[in-house]
Amino acid sequence: MLLGAPGSGKGTQAEMITRQFGIPVTSPGAILRREKDLGTQLGLETAETTRHGDLVSDEIIVELIEDWLRLHGGHGFVFDGFPRTMPQAESLESTLERHRTPLDWAVWLEVSPETVNDRIASRLQCQSCGFTTSVTSATFAERPICPYCDGPLIRRTDDDVSVLQHRMAEFNAKTQPLAALYEKKAVLRRIDGNRDREAVFADISGLIDQSAA
Ligand code: ADP
Repeated sequence: MLLGAPGSGKGTQAEMITRQFGIPVTSPGAILRREKDLGTQLGLETAETTRHGDLVSDEIIVELIEDWLRLHGGHGFVFDGFPRTMPQAESLESTLERHRTPLDWAVWLEVSPETVNDRIASRLQCQSCGFTTSVTSATFAERPICPYCDGPLIRRTDDDVSVLQHRMAEFNAKTQPLAALYEKKAVLRRIDGNRDREAVFADISGLIDQSAA
């Protein structure tokens, strides 16, 4: 699993893991954005919560994960941004037991407040495929277009300074305590997420190679 503050780059790393290793990734945040764009009931129900930077209820998130595992689960997967609360972590434990799957690593991407602010301020995301880039790293001819699928690159509605403060408060109150939990289980690996995406990915790849060996 990949965990970290907003702007830690976990979504980008999750994409790179899938591309390089073919391991399926599930991200509740990405699923909820997609559901909202599609106008489904789940998307509409949760849109206000995510827009304000609150965490969505544990019941909804756990159900999303269970559904996803029923469809894609089996041999190896990555959770991006799950679990984020103690009840989600407890539920995951029984789910993994049921699937007879051990938890290899809880990767904790550590980022400074400066990194978070810079990344959130410049983040652009493809509305079609979810590819993430930044205003500064992408140079555009006329309008921002995804290099992978030609979809429109837009700013996320929750990438806003006051919403970010709220997301950080949620992270500190509800997600931070999970570090101690996974440290106790000896699966926590802290990785410096302030570096560029390739350097971070090299460290994560090393962990994946280790668990495959
Ligand atoms: P970020 O890491 O930048 O906050 P995500 O895409 O992971 O972005 O999440 C976006 C939003 O989706 C969160 O602010 C929250 O509202 C919701 N969300 C994502 N994952 C969870 C989760 N595990 N539990 C509760 N809410 C979640």
